[in-house]
Amino acid sequence: MTARNPQPGDLEPIETASREEISALQLERLKWSVRHTYDNVEPYRRKCQEKGVHPDELQSLADLAKFPFMTKSDLRDNYPFGLFAVPREKLSRLHASSGTTGKSVVVGYTKNDLDNWAQVVARSIRAAGGRAGDMVHVAYGYGMFTGGLGAHYGAERLGCVVVPMSGGQTEKQVQQIMDFKPEIIMVTPSYSLVIAEEFERQGITPDQIPLKVGIFGAEPWGEGMRAEIERKLGIDAVDIYGLTEVMGPGVACECIETKDGPVIWEDHFYPEIIDPETGEVLPDGAEGELVFTSLTKEAFPVIRYRTRDLTRLLPPTARAFRRIGKITGRSDDMLIVRGVNVFPTQIEEQILRDPHLAGTYQILLTRDGHLDNVEVRCELQHEFSGKLNPPEIQAIAKALQHRIKTIIGISTKITVMEHDSIPRTLTGKARRVLDERPKQL
Ligand code: ADP
Repeated sequence: MTARNPQPGDLEPIETASREEISALQLERLKWSVRHTYDNVEPYRRKCQEKGVHPDELQSLADLAKFPFMTKSDLRDNYPFGLFAVPREKLSRLHASSGTTGKSVVVGYTKNDLDNWAQVVARSIRAAGGRAGDMVHVAYGYGMFTGGLGAHYGAERLGCVVVPMSGGQTEKQVQQIMDFKPEIIMVTPSYSLVIAEEFERQGITPDQIPLKVGIFGAEPWGEGMRAEIERKLGIDAVDIYGLTEVMGPGVACECIETKDGPVIWEDHFYPEIIDPETGEVLPDGAEGELVFTSLTKEAFPVIRYRTRDLTRLLPPTARAFRRIGKITGRSDDMLIVRGVNVFPTQIEEQILRDPHLAGTYQILLTRDGHLDNVEVRCELQHEFSGKLNPPEIQAIAKALQHRIKTIIGISTKITVMEHDSIPRTLTGKARRVLDERPKQL
């Protein structure tokens, strides 16, 4: 939808700067950030000392590779405030990760941090096609989760009208969207499908839905899901990426004019891709683990934070900054099934290649003796539900099983269910995998 592409004059100068200008700014900020962390975060200073490295050695961006990583276990070991770099009276807010994988971690923000966060989220919404005066319906959860408040203040900063709806109450979400007529929705992709189903249930067609753009993040979603959401809501669906430890939503966001992977706001977050086994820095374009260093954060700086998200760094297109490829998934979401590494999004992609099947699915893992069994539960689209006979459903299941076997390489049992059989997640992130295998001791 070209009408929503930002005009060159709308962008901040750094969004169109040269690589030299960006690198110079990054180096200056990186020196500050590493020094600030070393001076004020005792556990990180100790790590540096153990490795025999000092902030004075940081003379080029490449020198960052000499510094130790921070990991999720560092955050957990220093729970709640052990990695904060400012005293409590300098803090303005706390957030915590939703704890999708394990115990939650707590992060803090100064006033300046909140200001920078609002700015990068505002930039993200503008990249996604939003502008001052738009109404933004925020259906990310509010609370300790960074999604709701992160989106909220960014939308306000851009000059939008914010509807702080939060998650849940799906009928009310639909009613408010129809009554208030927001142009933009910010929500997890999985919950957007629940909202889309409610529109469908009420007989409201995509062309009657006032939304124009959706900004979706907080969980992995593939191109098949993008097509599904765009078709069902009649919108442009744009990908926003972020994580609590680094800031929250708005570390990176796709541009509506290209939709080719989230642009990293590299003036605030310095990315690296590493080999997850050896920790070695990989060249742009190579697949590996995404690592971030915050460049401007005061309260909770992170140096070489290992996100466990697997992706690639891609060259700049719509902006001067580099992009990340679609996040295949977190390394800890990866299923190892009879020795084959599989991400739920790969299975999602194969499900959505069949127009009869909807985007809500679940993967059930069980163990039979020593062998892993994988059952993929998926649902018929609303319009086909209750209308197909058993041989037709069997043919859909067989074709999906064949695609998963030949493309991903694992044997699965496919269960095709009627529409609305799989429980929906109304707030937060979808739970795609049910692992009922006995725990290894
Ligand atoms: P939690 O760790 O409890 O899930 P967060 O909200 O901080 O809480 O989760 C951040 C993680 O969510 C990221 O590290 C990434 O795995 C996932 N994520 C966020 N945005 C996206 C996105 N656009 N695409 C894929 N994964 C995403």
